[in-house]
Amino acid sequence: MSFNADCLLLFGATGDLAQRMLLPSLCALGADKLISPDLKIVGTARQPFDDAGYRNFAREALEKYLPPERRGSMAEFLNRLHYQPLDANDTSHFVDLAAKVGTPKEGLAIFLSTAPGLFEPTIAGLSASGLTGANVRIGLEKPLGTDLESSRHINDAVASAFSEDRIFRIDHYLGKETVQNLLALRFANILFEPLWNAAHIDNVQITVAETVGLENRVGYYDGAGALRDMVQNHMLQLLALVAMEPPASYDSTAIRDEKVKVLRCLRYVTPDETVTGQYRKGAVEGQPVPGYDDELGKDSDTETFVAIKAHVDNWRWKGVPFYLRTGKRLPKRVTEIIVNFRPVPHSIFASKAASTRPNSLLIGIQPEENITLQLMAKVPGLDRDGIRLRPVPLDIAMNDAFAGPVKRIAYERLLLDLIGGDQTLFVRRDEVEAQWDWIDDIRAVWAEHGVKPKAYAAGNWGPSAAIALAERDGVTWHE
Ligand code: NAP
Repeated sequence: MSFNADCLLLFGATGDLAQRMLLPSLCALGADKLISPDLKIVGTARQPFDDAGYRNFAREALEKYLPPERRGSMAEFLNRLHYQPLDANDTSHFVDLAAKVGTPKEGLAIFLSTAPGLFEPTIAGLSASGLTGANVRIGLEKPLGTDLESSRHINDAVASAFSEDRIFRIDHYLGKETVQNLLALRFANILFEPLWNAAHIDNVQITVAETVGLENRVGYYDGAGALRDMVQNHMLQLLALVAMEPPASYDSTAIRDEKVKVLRCLRYVTPDETVTGQYRKGAVEGQPVPGYDDELGKDSDTETFVAIKAHVDNWRWKGVPFYLRTGKRLPKRVTEIIVNFRPVPHSIFASKAASTRPNSLLIGIQPEENITLQLMAKVPGLDRDGIRLRPVPLDIAMNDAFAGPVKRIAYERLLLDLIGGDQTLFVRRDEVEAQWDWIDDIRAVWAEHGVKPKAYAAGNWGPSAAIALAERDGVTWHE
């Protein structure tokens, strides 16, 4: 069914995400004429703004978080904004909200940028006030629960008012250009697919490294930890995109069908296939930083680092480890996927100087968006000792290859697709549940074996056991 919302209702309109990402994304989309001039945006939260007060609030957020060259006419954008104060726990408040939204002609897109604990009362309020009709779509921010059971609870609550084809679960990594480019790389080129299997790939590594510590996420993070904050969603989505079979088309059902098959093939891990860590004081990028417990103000067993050796149990990936690692206070901020190919079956180059190294493909997601293929090449020269070889990068820096396009916020893509009703880059219920199933099992293993995070000094790549996790297979983490 074609869908194009002419009203966007934003819950959590005064929150951090709204200020840093959502309002800037919407303003930028407006400036680039990617959303209709008629799109009305209604914000809601408890703060008692009127329209004018909220427009001022939004202006300040845009001046802080959106570069001037991307703002277009701010006045035009601010005029789209309306605001209705509401406590989501009070169903009676939704009457005024519905009046503020009015009757959209085409459709209504709702974005819940609030804590998931508010999803249930919000859905109840929306249902009671007639804001869940067939022309209404709903977007949900992560985290969708803290385990399989709580995620089912949330999904059931949302499903009581919205059919699955109207639910848009957000994983903002899917809004990133390079993540979408992974599909282009794999399925728009003939080169990789014949090699993209256990016969030719030795291992895959996925790293999501942060330099920051707790920041202002104390309340949320200490209850969640790295496994649930990063692996359950973003990293498993990256793994699924790397490991999936070719979908029949670039279509939301075809792509999500293939991703969920991979997620269901994840083998439950054994205790020696995971390493957890928690940072102690150290130095990151030359600056001294306190330890996690100092930042938190109390002792905690929450892991700020996790490394996992995962396996996708199917024909394509038999015996190929997927090493995942993520953590806070690591040496640099980087998200990347490395596909390490197998060595050539027989080298014709006998001398040491000509020893070959296996090819590798690096897909940089942030901060740099690039794709680098390491190839062996002859070192130029007329050496008497014979041919010398060296790996050289075949490098596609996206910024150089595509000069012109602006670097967009991942939420621009996602908001555009929510407004336009395209679910391809949103996560389906069965995917979320397969992800939680695997994560819950890891947490059960940790509980059963009394696993506590090992200390690592801030500024290092996690505890030394994480290095050993790969090294004992003869694999070195990419750094
Ligand atoms: P936040 O700064 O705490 O904002 C929460 C929003 O919810 C505020 O607008 C708050 O406004 C509103 N709110 C709280 N209680 C309410 C109630 N009873 N009724 C109506 N509105 C209420 O949180 P956030 O960082 O923006 O994050 C929002 C969601 O996105 C969270 O689930 C978070 O985990 C997720 N998320 C955030 C980020 C990020 O970078 N910030 C990234 C990924 C996911 P009032 O206090 O005025 O009511």
